[in-house]
Amino acid sequence: MLEVLAENLAARVSGRRIESILIRQPALLQTSAPTPESFAGEFLSLPGRVGKYLVLETESRRAIVIHLMRAGRILVVAAPERAAALPRQLSARVAFDDGTRLELVEHGKEKRARLWLVEDSSDLAELQRLGPDPSRGELSHERFRAALDGASRRLKTFLTDQRAIAGIGNGLSDEILYEARLSPMRLTGSLTEAEARAMHAALLAVVTTQTEKLRQSAQGELPQKEPREHYIVHDHAGAKCPRCAATIARVSFTDHELFYCPGCQTGGKLMQDRRLSKLLK
Ligand SMILES: [Zn+2]
Repeated sequence: MLEVLAENLAARVSGRRIESILIRQPALLQTSAPTPESFAGEFLSLPGRVGKYLVLETESRRAIVIHLMRAGRILVVAAPERAAALPRQLSARVAFDDGTRLELVEHGKEKRARLWLVEDSSDLAELQRLGPDPSRGELSHERFRAALDGASRRLKTFLTDQRAIAGIGNGLSDEILYEARLSPMRLTGSLTEAEARAMHAALLAVVTTQTEKLRQSAQGELPQKEPREHYIVHDHAGAKCPRCAATIARVSFTDHELFYCPGCQTGGKLMQDRRLSKLLK
């Protein structure tokens, strides 16, 4: 989603001059220097994505780095005709000198989005820790195999670990394992060479097709949420698997849910919530 968001943000904000940065949600800002005020007068270059981070770099290479977490949303709004009250869910706002504003809003009580203001985004530890990014052509089969072999964890956990592979979230990981016909519970070290190849191919195919589908459906607008309708298993518990007609199942955890097809992925077995939640930690 972030890839398309960054692309579609370009037409709206790149080349614009920052007038001010307002940080409204105190827990949002992760850095103390440079200050928001010091960004006044800087011109934004092309927005980018690094892993699950949105990077808004200026022409002097300083950057506003944003992690939306689950509930953060980016909007670009035109200048209001007269002074209006700040929207209640507004966490931060970048105002440009033509009146356009880029707003970060976060719905719900839990405010988990994060923002960093940095002199150079390549110095940011959060970005340095990221693993290879499949949509940047960084994940060859050799690198994938090395990452798999270097970890002894459930496939689902492995896929969503940003230090192992960058940019894959909960939705994509369910789709990748479905595509590869692998159980989310399998251990990384247990895959045969053929299974590892199938998983790597599924990963690249799912990342590419999902990005392309979203690019098409967004039609130049800023996507605001994960596109449930583009997924086959993720968020589709109770639906019939188009491959084997089994019923897509779900396992709930404290902070996320996992979806899979028992017919294609677990040899017909249903996974148990309680046992899994401990194992998949
Ligand atoms: Zn199936």
